[in-house]
Amino acid sequence: MAKGSYDVIVVGAGFGGSSCAALLAKRGLKVLLLEKNSKAGGKAIALSKKGFTYTAWVVITAPVQDNTFEVVLKELGMENRVELVTPDPSGGAIFKNSKGKHVPMPPMPSDSVQDPNIIFDWLEVKEEERADALNVLTELTLMAPQDIDRLDDISFAEWLSRYKLPKTVYGYLISGIADPCFVAPVDAVAASEAIRTLQMIFTRSGGLFCKGGIGRVAEVYTQAVEENGGRVIMRARVEKILVDNGKVTGVATDKGMFEAPIVISNSGIQPTVLKLVGEEHFDRSYVNYVKELVPSCGLPGIRYFLNKEVIKNPFGTIFSTDSYWTMERFNKAAAGEMPKDTGILYEVPSNYDPDAAPKGKQIVLAAIWGPAEPQMTAKEKKLWWDKIDEVMFKVFPELPKHIESKEYYSARDVSVLTRDQVLPGQGGECIGLGQVVGQGGRRKPSIKAPVRGLFYVGCDAGGYGVGTQQAVDSGIKVANAVQKYYLMHKAME
Ligand SMILES: Cc1cc2nc3c(=O)[nH]c(=O)nc-3n(C[C@H](O)[C@H](O)[C@H](O)COP(=O)(O)OP(=O)(O)OC[C@H]3O[C@@H](n4cnc5c(N)ncnc54)[C@H](O)[C@@H]3O)c2cc1C
Repeated sequence: MAKGSYDVIVVGAGFGGSSCAALLAKRGLKVLLLEKNSKAGGKAIALSKKGFTYTAWVVITAPVQDNTFEVVLKELGMENRVELVTPDPSGGAIFKNSKGKHVPMPPMPSDSVQDPNIIFDWLEVKEEERADALNVLTELTLMAPQDIDRLDDISFAEWLSRYKLPKTVYGYLISGIADPCFVAPVDAVAASEAIRTLQMIFTRSGGLFCKGGIGRVAEVYTQAVEENGGRVIMRARVEKILVDNGKVTGVATDKGMFEAPIVISNSGIQPTVLKLVGEEHFDRSYVNYVKELVPSCGLPGIRYFLNKEVIKNPFGTIFSTDSYWTMERFNKAAAGEMPKDTGILYEVPSNYDPDAAPKGKQIVLAAIWGPAEPQMTAKEKKLWWDKIDEVMFKVFPELPKHIESKEYYSARDVSVLTRDQVLPGQGGECIGLGQVVGQGGRRKPSIKAPVRGLFYVGCDAGGYGVGTQQAVDSGIKVANAVQKYYLMHKAME
């Protein structure tokens, strides 16, 4: 027997599910939010241990100004419940130059117009190449939305190949900025997705964090559901989304059954279709389409717990001219041929928030791009982790001496925490399905499933931007669509 009846059930309290559920509850719908973990936040969940507070892995966000977190918090009237922190504008990007020396990005003057020559000097760009570099960056930053829309079917690499971009600037743009945003090779990411997101960062800055860990924002959204008359059940795993005669009727969980005419799934399109609903409720062509969707890569990494403050920057990328990922390089690395240079991403939560570590100590999160496959062997995983140690210890020689403990994580941990594996190579993806050529821009999977009353929310459908922003952007768009769907169906009853 059903344990309750709702207007809408949301499956999953990641950034997509929690923001969507909060907005719908605030707008007066009777909402049930079900989450299998004990806390909201999904892939950006906040953790704490032995006086350290951190996100499970490197998670920072962008843009700083007009970000989607604040758009939702404002509508909920909960802006004061979290403290978003803005970093030092120079960030912590570190360039391995032509002499093999790792050089941090020079400080940028914060009180004047930023001079691109500071960056070009750092990146060893010759005088005669600077105009070409500026031309590409200007085209990218100022491209009109209708022109961006025309670039859904070519990759970012193809778009860039139309220009003369100095090699070191290419390395910085891709390995230092784009790879961390999309976690997919430059020749796979749709040019429209890349340009739209990079415009947000170039014009509205990046590196935003939240005191207590980014996951705090999703926790606040989840509180908003209850404060607006909805219900939240944590540690409730949805086992089935119930469909009768082509129409959603509710969900079955390990805590009982719940009824609703609308279900919004934040658990990923592939797990939703292939596991929670079941292939038998969809056309064969839709099932094939869903099976063929390609996820982003994974982002395996290491947490270093240190007995000393070793790194001064809050976050950064370590890159070289050749450290960006292409599909060929990535496939070779996954087959055991790791390139000499790879991009590395690091974050130090206590450099944003002094309360994030016991006094005098530091936690450093470091990551590398890796396969999304949760079933990698210990030997395969070691290859990626060893590369992180190699680069981090070279760039921060003090680091190994001060390690009190070390934790490794892989695509398997990401999958266990967030997204069930239902296909080979899927489950541990860092972002989702909606960014690569054929699946980005106007080709993104639809937020509406071909079953009456079933919607998807999160990074697979509906949103733009870096991971957490994309998930919340999807939350906003899906909330708008579901609110209309609900009102129209109610009017026709
Ligand atoms: C290692 C790593 C580093 C990242 N770094 C960054 C970064 O620096 N900046 C950034 O912006 N983004 C980053 N991201 C990406 C970002 O975290 C994600 O894109 C975003 O949080 C995804 O949100 P989502 O709502 O789509 O889904 P998810 O976070 O996957 O949330 C899905 C939720 O649904 C729940 N769920 C799933 N199945 C069920 C079920 N059957 N029943 C009940 N609940 C269920 C899950 O437990 C989870 O809470 C990173 C991700 C990873 C993995």
